[in-house]
Amino acid sequence: VTPLRRVVVVGASLAGLRAVEALRRRGFDGEVVVLGGEPHLPYDRPPLSKEVLAGKWDAERTRFRPPENYDELDSEWRLGTRAAGLDLEGRAVLLQGGERVPFDGLVLSCGAAPRRLRGAEGLDGVHVLRSLDDALAIRGALDGGARVAVVGAGFIGAEVAATCRGRGLDVSLIETLPAPLARVLPPALGERMAALHRDHGVRLSCGVPVAGLEGRGRVERVRLADGSAVEADCVVVGIGVVPETGWLEGSGLALEDGVLCDERCAASAPGVVAAGDVARWRNPRLGETLRLEHWTNATEMAEAAAARLLAGESGAAAYLEPYAPVPYFWSDQYGVKIQLAGRAEPGDEMHVVDGSLAEERFAVLFSRAGRLVGALGLGRPRLVMRFKRLLREGASLEEALAAE
Ligand SMILES: Cc1cc2nc3c(=O)[nH]c(=O)nc-3n(C[C@H](O)[C@H](O)[C@H](O)COP(=O)(O)OP(=O)(O)OC[C@H]3O[C@@H](n4cnc5c(N)ncnc54)[C@H](O)[C@@H]3O)c2cc1C
Repeated sequence: VTPLRRVVVVGASLAGLRAVEALRRRGFDGEVVVLGGEPHLPYDRPPLSKEVLAGKWDAERTRFRPPENYDELDSEWRLGTRAAGLDLEGRAVLLQGGERVPFDGLVLSCGAAPRRLRGAEGLDGVHVLRSLDDALAIRGALDGGARVAVVGAGFIGAEVAATCRGRGLDVSLIETLPAPLARVLPPALGERMAALHRDHGVRLSCGVPVAGLEGRGRVERVRLADGSAVEADCVVVGIGVVPETGWLEGSGLALEDGVLCDERCAASAPGVVAAGDVARWRNPRLGETLRLEHWTNATEMAEAAAARLLAGESGAAAYLEPYAPVPYFWSDQYGVKIQLAGRAEPGDEMHVVDGSLAEERFAVLFSRAGRLVGALGLGRPRLVMRFKRLLREGASLEEALAAE
């Protein structure tokens, strides 16, 4: 077994930074090299669709640490440097141009990249929102008073629509599915989200796919499959992300819509772990493999992955707790905090436990065969955190209803 002297981290964002911090906090005193595809030191993404687009925060405020606070991590940050390949046998990450970056331990924290609409290439005014540079480009368009069309009413699209309305702009939100967030919420709640957008003056179109974008040089409209069109000068496409695993293909590492990991964040090769949006792992609490695209998961999984890396290939790893979080996500829209702890699936039973769906503030629980599986709140942060604790403790629906 090779002693761990040099750790390479691929991806200089939330999970990458938290992994480096955890390695140092846990006493690792070897070399740490971080490869970051973006030119920036790690910054926080949630404010991009909220405070940054709103024009309330400048770019610097999104930084996790000011540059001078990196000294204490005693690590080398190679920014603007993308990993292009992985030589598992030779224990090295390959860079474009052929440079080899050797490692004993490897943390994969390279996140996910936004899906793009086909046919949008070569049209100005069409954006995705994943990076700080994306956010600043969109903000520039909003400053000019653009008419905005958002394609995709997932959390990011919904937040962009809400922030743009907050700036008083003309906003259309276009969703192929029957309701916003239809992938993560049952239909009654999807309807509730639709009403939230409409109440705030967004023109919402659901259930009709986008046929294409039209314009000469610049985007002028979004054409829908039923022939109708939405005029816009700025189109923000929020149709999901794909894990950044292209550079790992052919390396021999098991990939399956993400880097496939075991219950302790170990990938399929010795000394390789993954964390954050790029990692798919077996969550023993849920009894399934999943990949989460949530801030809290990137933070917590980085800690677990660092612990796993330090445990090495000795028997010590078996004594680590499996990584078994309750999934958790929040979103801010129209001044309301929306939080989902655990999960909700279309067939789950729904119980309104606080307020009513007709209001802008309420909480609901989800259960499956009497088992509590999730909790959603609008403007009910403390209640959702209480239910999150109960989910972690494996409480039944009765216990949750009694605690409320
Ligand atoms: C606009 C926006 C708003 C969000 N709002 C919320 C929210 O309200 N609540 C919530 O829970 N979550 C939210 N999220 C999700 C949250 O930000 C992510 O879950 C989190 O950023 C994941 O962190 P990560 O480090 O795993 O990946 P990322 O943050 O995606 O970082 C991966 C990094 O790796 C780099 N990289 C990729 N490939 C390579 C390579 N080959 N070599 C080197 N570097 C590479 C990328 O450039 C990137 O910098 C939001 C995300 C966005 C984009």
